[in-house]
Amino acid sequence: MSAQPRMPTESGTPDHFQYMHPTLRRNYGQWSWHERPRPGVLHHVSRTGDQVWTVRAGTQRQMDVHTIRKLCDIADKYADGYVRFTIRSNIEFMVADEKKVKPLIEALTKEGFPIGGTGNSVSMISHTQGWLHCDIPGTDASGVVKSLMDELHQEFINEDMPNRVKITTSCCQINCGGQGDIAINVQHTKPPRINHDLVANLCERPSVVARCPVAAIRPAMVNGRPSLEVDERKCICCGACYPPCPPMQINDPEHSKIAIWVGGKNSNARSKPSLHKLVAAGIPNNPPRWPEAAAVVKKILAVYKQDAHAWERMGEWVERIGWPRFFELTGLPFTKFHVDNWRGARASLNTSAHVRF
Ligand code: SF4
Ligand code: SF4
Repeated sequence: MSAQPRMPTESGTPDHFQYMHPTLRRNYGQWSWHERPRPGVLHHVSRTGDQVWTVRAGTQRQMDVHTIRKLCDIADKYADGYVRFTIRSNIEFMVADEKKVKPLIEALTKEGFPIGGTGNSVSMISHTQGWLHCDIPGTDASGVVKSLMDELHQEFINEDMPNRVKITTSCCQINCGGQGDIAINVQHTKPPRINHDLVANLCERPSVVARCPVAAIRPAMVNGRPSLEVDERKCICCGACYPPCPPMQINDPEHSKIAIWVGGKNSNARSKPSLHKLVAAGIPNNPPRWPEAAAVVKKILAVYKQDAHAWERMGEWVERIGWPRFFELTGLPFTKFHVDNWRGARASLNTSAHVRF
């Protein structure tokens, strides 16, 4: 008997073709042109003559089962039973008949799902997991997003911005943090506080020591027990030690703040990708509606909308007018902490075991 081949266990993403609308499947790679008949609706025409209309709607992203069922019912009734999610967590419904577009939009609007997020709008804010899923957040990224998108509803359903605006939110300072035209990221401002009674039982001390980017953590004996100590003059409050060692608590209701960064871009359309820059720091981390962070973001968006040339992305606009003018127009205070000449970094990174220069 010949040996049976050992088939691999498939654990990756499933084949997406099986979930695709039949018109999309049939015309894969055949699309000839497309247009946007109105904000939130895309119209694609294939070389074969087939057409498809995509209706994009915003959701709160982290959805309860009732909301998901509601969206599925709408898909079954108005959109041939097919949906897909964009990378910014908008939901899209595809129909192959133009007559189905209007009733679909009406059904979504009636249930409170705004239609938009296409073209030069402020699309849904991409965010990291927040308090619901992750064990180290300093803020609730999804909560910040929900409250901000409630205030940016008009910018989502219209395409009035000079170019598309991608906003991101990150709930800790080190991991899946965002990079965007505007990024809202948590900012720790004090070194971690160590609970020495727990370190010996919970933390693998060498890996915590190795984790610190500026070599600020040392093994230490405290009250006769093995623990750790932090050189607070070196600590840059990054929070990297907290995930592998929860007794090194860095989250703080008062001292964990929010910082806002501007001008990041992943795409290389028209200009090169760019890194965002810090424009506002020390903003209160103030759930459940984060009004102070929302006010700064709305101010930046209003000035960008008014002052940028057509098709300028946020970072391109700031590069053209210059950062001093950006601070002047937005009214954001410019402080010495905005100046990063890398002198401080040279001193602190040279103490690290990882980086020498
Ligand atoms: S950004 Fe940090 S806290 Fe938020 S989900 Fe990612 S790893 Fe967790
Ligand atoms: S890992 Fe970050 S927060 Fe922890 S001690 Fe080092 S610099 Fe400070």
